[in-house]
Amino acid sequence: MTEHAVVIAGGGPTGLMLAGELALVEVDVAIVERRASHDLIGSRSGGLHSRTIEILDQRGIADRFLSQGQVAQVAGFAGTPLDISDFPTRHNYGLALWQTHIERILAGWVDELGVPVYRGREVTGFAQDDTGVDVELSDGQSLRAEYLVGCDGGRSLIRKAAGIEFPGWDPTTSNLIAEVEITEEPEWGIRRDALGIHSLSRLEDGGRIRVLVTEQHVGATTEPTLRDLSEALIAVYGTDYGVHSPTSLSRFTDMTRQAAAYRDRRVLLAGDAAHVHPPDGGQGLQTGVQDAVNLGWKLAQVVNRTSPESLLDTYHAERHPVAARVLPNTMAQVVLRRPDERTKALRDTMSELLGMDEPRRRFAAMMSGLDIHYDLGEGHPLLGRRMPDLDLVTANGLLRVFTLLHDARPVLLNLGEPGGLDITPWADRVQLVDAKYLGTWELPALGPVTAPTAVLIRPDGYVAWVGDRTQLGLADALTTWFGPPTAA
Ligand SMILES: Cc1cc2nc3c(=O)[nH]c(=O)nc-3n(C[C@H](O)[C@H](O)[C@H](O)COP(=O)(O)OP(=O)(O)OC[C@H]3O[C@@H](n4cnc5c(N)ncnc54)[C@H](O)[C@@H]3O)c2cc1C
Repeated sequence: MTEHAVVIAGGGPTGLMLAGELALVEVDVAIVERRASHDLIGSRSGGLHSRTIEILDQRGIADRFLSQGQVAQVAGFAGTPLDISDFPTRHNYGLALWQTHIERILAGWVDELGVPVYRGREVTGFAQDDTGVDVELSDGQSLRAEYLVGCDGGRSLIRKAAGIEFPGWDPTTSNLIAEVEITEEPEWGIRRDALGIHSLSRLEDGGRIRVLVTEQHVGATTEPTLRDLSEALIAVYGTDYGVHSPTSLSRFTDMTRQAAAYRDRRVLLAGDAAHVHPPDGGQGLQTGVQDAVNLGWKLAQVVNRTSPESLLDTYHAERHPVAARVLPNTMAQVVLRRPDERTKALRDTMSELLGMDEPRRRFAAMMSGLDIHYDLGEGHPLLGRRMPDLDLVTANGLLRVFTLLHDARPVLLNLGEPGGLDITPWADRVQLVDAKYLGTWELPALGPVTAPTAVLIRPDGYVAWVGDRTQLGLADALTTWFGPPTAA
């Protein structure tokens, strides 16, 4: 039986990001992916929000994505655009880039890091015991892992087999999305009617078209067919425009559910396996990739015996509330999609509110992921929030904070007296950097905050401790997040 420290079921964006995070810190990780190639058929996510770009920048790979897409103000709520160009981040924008390209670039990174991918087969079951998990594959092979992570999408076999509840709300709307050819000139663009929203647009290749159509009925349980698409088009437009030759055809709904637990002993869930919701606002892929970045370093430290396995409980504690906030905001946006006059009045009211500066900043920070705040207790506003990518002055010249995070290791940034902090018992794990920062400290939506004299930054870029001229609480924070001190 082949052994790996961590096996990831599913090589979508979440699984790829997690594999990269683990491989960066030399954990023996493998992916099992049902698809034979990483080409994603059809369109799903249309791009990246600001915080996801920052996350990729923390690993030094943001340019790979930025060079392939179109930078734009992509954040919005129920159709109201939310401009973030005045936000204190290097990436005060989003990126328009189809998911197929996002996955291709992530897969390239994971390949460079040497992660083995068991392609063209699926995980069919598993059994966990006190020391590991036996993972069954559809080709009859078995893998043994210390941990198994289900990144296997909304219908997650891992979640179901682990017996993890998936409470939430059944769908109220159903859409077909397809890439097809047609024989007649259609009505281009978006149409709203009593059924919902529909659109027809040309694909980048110029030949085929992308169809989005709301179905008359909710609750289909079979895979969609060309006939379903034709009928849905006729119901809306009175014609199917001679639709034929689909290269992709799928159905999505506004089903909204979240796993009750992100961990069952040696089995964890991330991405759509842990939460599903309507695509409004473009948050699913972002949430999954950021789940992966929260989990990766914790899992690595547990596998490497640096930290006790209780560190893994902080994954649920931190990430469950994040998706629990995404779910209702997508539900609200679905309601605001409705075309009737009363809903339109409500949409216009929301839009007027979001035109005011304070609501705009709050919602924009939420939709772009820049306001994420893990509850690490009382203290400086930076505690539990993202570390800004400041330009630091060091003895070796100018340095960006994110550069320090490229290899996914924690950093203690000393902005006070050089040499004023001593972390010898953690020096094997935590980089100590003496630096000066001459600018102001400003956080998205919160505004200016007082300048700290030191910050302890986790590998995921969130602040674990803030110093105010003393080392009070630093040893505790180092132990909590990066394991007990090494004996002298
Ligand atoms: C129409 C639409 C538009 C969207 N737009 C956006 C957007 O603009 N922005 C955004 O952030 N999100 C968007 N999303 C959501 C986004 O597509 C998902 O959140 C994202 O793909 C989740 O990634 P994942 O890796 O967690 O799961 P998935 O992408 O579902 O990947 C799961 C992977 O697991 C594999 N797999 C499944 N079962 C097994 C098994 N048993 N063994 C091995 N492999 C298995 C699958 O083949 C797949 O590759 C949209 C979704 C839809 C449907």
